[in-house]
Amino acid sequence: MSADELLREAERVMTICNACRYCEGFCAVFPAMELRRTFAAEELRYLANLCHNCRGCWYACQYAPPHEFAVNVPRALAALRRTTWQEFARPKRFSGLFRRNGLAVLAAGLAAAAVFLLWGALSAESGLWAARSGAGAFYRVIPYGAMLGVFSALALGALAALAAGLFSFLRQTGTKASEFFAPGHQLRALKDVLRLTYLEGGGHGCNYPDERFRHGRRRLHHLVFYGFLAAFASTTAAAFYDHVLGLPAPYPWLSLPVLLGLGGGLAMTAGLCGLMVLKARMDHEPADEEGRGMELAFLGLLLAVNGTGLLLLFLRETAAMGVLLALHLAAVAAFFALLPYGKFVHALYRWAALVKNASEQSKAG
Ligand code: SF4
Ligand code: SF4
Repeated sequence: MSADELLREAERVMTICNACRYCEGFCAVFPAMELRRTFAAEELRYLANLCHNCRGCWYACQYAPPHEFAVNVPRALAALRRTTWQEFARPKRFSGLFRRNGLAVLAAGLAAAAVFLLWGALSAESGLWAARSGAGAFYRVIPYGAMLGVFSALALGALAALAAGLFSFLRQTGTKASEFFAPGHQLRALKDVLRLTYLEGGGHGCNYPDERFRHGRRRLHHLVFYGFLAAFASTTAAAFYDHVLGLPAPYPWLSLPVLLGLGGGLAMTAGLCGLMVLKARMDHEPADEEGRGMELAFLGLLLAVNGTGLLLLFLRETAAMGVLLALHLAAVAAFFALLPYGKFVHALYRWAALVKNASEQSKAG
């Protein structure tokens, strides 16, 4: 379906739901829907990103197929959500990366692996396959300055593209910046993000991967989310050790960067594997099948970042260190390069939708 057809389908479904209102206690989407009488494109873009795909409204719906109304809210909103990410993406010329995301991730991963393996092979003393230990061992494979330059450029580029995407979200959903940046609205949304409130399904959990209520999806998301934060904290601690304390990596097992990195890496790996298992078992009826490749590519890329990072940690004293470092850096580089053009953006736009929702609900009283 084209973006216009997806908008029309979401409008049709929301109009039926607004007359029915049976699911109004399920999540934030229905109360937000009830504040509206008509559904223009900007309203639908917002509602699509507010939906957490818990699927409660699919299994509860008396108008779902085979009923002639054929209401399928999770699928209609998920498909629309995918196209909104493409519309929000900046610079515009890269928005096509959302369409063939699996291929883009594979190509970026392979190209980065080739570059870093070649780079390591050419710059490392005594080749890639050689044991090295002691302070600065990693920099004897890929020089420190080069590593810093490449990853600073990639991280800054990703941050700039995500910030531009966020402003595009505000414009295309009719959200005022003054309301969006109000501390009270931000705080309320932050609470919803940290708790993943709308994956609780009113306390019973999501209907995922099938019609039974379960908390698994929420817990696995928490493992990935908090694992990601711990891994980020590990990188920050390592930068502090290196630039402020003058202690270059690798660090001992009982140091802050290693403990945070190990804990975060294991939590993320467990969460990502669990989410992949749930995806393999899920009911396909309420799913947006066209978005499946992007979801698997995102989980796969994050797993590659974690897997190579953990292997590097465990085998850093062996001759495999050079190859593992090159592969880990390649996975991280591909992750940063595609960060604004893949499934990662669901976190950004869902947070933005939750802030808009906090603003609307505080006005509605
Ligand atoms: S999903 Fe079905 S039951 Fe729920 S509000 Fe919409 S039409 Fe009514
Ligand atoms: S799938 Fe869940 S979050 Fe999305 S609209 Fe239905 S009940 Fe709400």
